[in-house]
Formats: sequence, structure tokens, C-alpha cells
Amino acid sequence: MSFASLGLCTPILEAVANQGYEKPSPIQAQAIPAVLEGKDVMAAAQTGTGKTAGFTLPILERLSKGPKVRSNQVRALVLTPTRELAAQVGENVATYSKRLPLSSAVVFGGVKINPQMMRMRQGADVLVATPGRLQDLIDQRAISLKHCRFAVLDEADQMLDLGFLPAVRKLMRQLPDPHQTILMSATMPDAIQKLASDFLKDPQEISV
Ligand code: AMP
Repeated sequence: MSFASLGLCTPILEAVANQGYEKPSPIQAQAIPAVLEGKDVMAAAQTGTGKTAGFTLPILERLSKGPKVRSNQVRALVLTPTRELAAQVGENVATYSKRLPLSSAVVFGGVKINPQMMRMRQGADVLVATPGRLQDLIDQRAISLKHCRFAVLDEADQMLDLGFLPAVRKLMRQLPDPHQTILMSATMPDAIQKLASDFLKDPQEISV
């Protein structure tokens, strides 16, 4: 199995090759085709499995085919429990999209909101965010989810542990139809299963 056989475009294949990845990891081999087909995905995957590229690469592929992003809009959203993870995922997205005409941004709490509001004037094809700050930016009309067609809940069990599920549920209810949802979690406690059954449509389940 190669990345090329998964149907990713040349700019993404070049970015992956630049990283020195030779072949898709098991989670990537399952998640990439599912996301490209438009399916919702629920994956039991720990850090270190290549889960980030597993959701980022197919989303970039899909975004590269669609219309340009507009001011204050996002086309894909990645929710993370912590600012450290947001920054790390944001770096990955920037690396993999380097050769594509797509933009990305990272927003999290604990820092000034104004620079983030200014940044969002350009819109972002991919926005990586922590839930609280994202809701603040939406409430201040700096971000709209009206054109957001992809939502990733990364490390969902961590979001549960940190008490973010109500905020996540509120954000999920603001997404337009249709949209595609990907849930990644190291463990699948009842609250995460319930979250998935409430917000994912007939998901492809992956475990590695
Ligand atoms: P993650 O599980 O997303 O945190 O990724 C863990 C590490 O694996 C990161 O340092 C990635 O750069 C690396 N990685 C992701 N996909 C691959 C791959 N297909 N081959 C080799 N390394 C990879």
C-alpha cells in the first residue's frame, strides 16, 4: 500500500514524501479512503499512530477541490482539548498543505483574542481550535461555521476529562448540513460513544 494508491493529489504526496513517510500507517490506510468517500469516521487511536495525518491529508484533498474560503469563514474545523495539541496539529496542517493554495490558522485561549480576530478576517480553510476560545470568537462574530463542511474531534476522551463536552456539543450543533465528522479518541468511554451516536452519521469505525 502506498500513499499514491489512496488517491491523494501530487502536492500532498510531495509533502508526505518530504516528511520521509514511506507508507501509510494502519490508521491512515483505513481513515484516508473513508474520509475521501465522504464518510463519518470514529477511530480508536492513540498519539503516535499517525492519526493527525490520517484526518488531515484527506480533508486537505477534499478542500483542494472546493471553493475558496471567504472572510471570517472556515471550511474545516479541528477541535482539540489543549493549546499544546492545537499548536502541534496546526503545525502538521501547515506542513502537509505547504504546496496547496489552502490556508490554516490556530486559535486557543489564554492569549489575547484580538490578533486571532484580525487573523480570521482572511478566513481559514482549516481552523484548529480549542472549544472555549472558538465559541468566544463565534460569539464576537469573528468566525462563522456556516461554510464548515468538516469537523474533527481530536482526543475526544481528553475533552471529556477536561469538562469540554458541553462546549463541544454546542459547537457541533452550529455546523451546517451537510457536513462530515471525524472523531478520534484513545479510549471510548460511554460519554464519547453517546457523543458519537448523537453527532456522527453511520460512522466507519476504525481501531488500531
Ligand atoms: P500522530 O499520531 O499524528 O501524533 O503522529 C505521530 C508521529 O508519526 C508524527 O511525528 C508524524 O510525523 C509521524 N508519522 C505520521 N504518519 C507517518 C507515516 N505514514 N510514516 C512515518 N511516520 C509518520
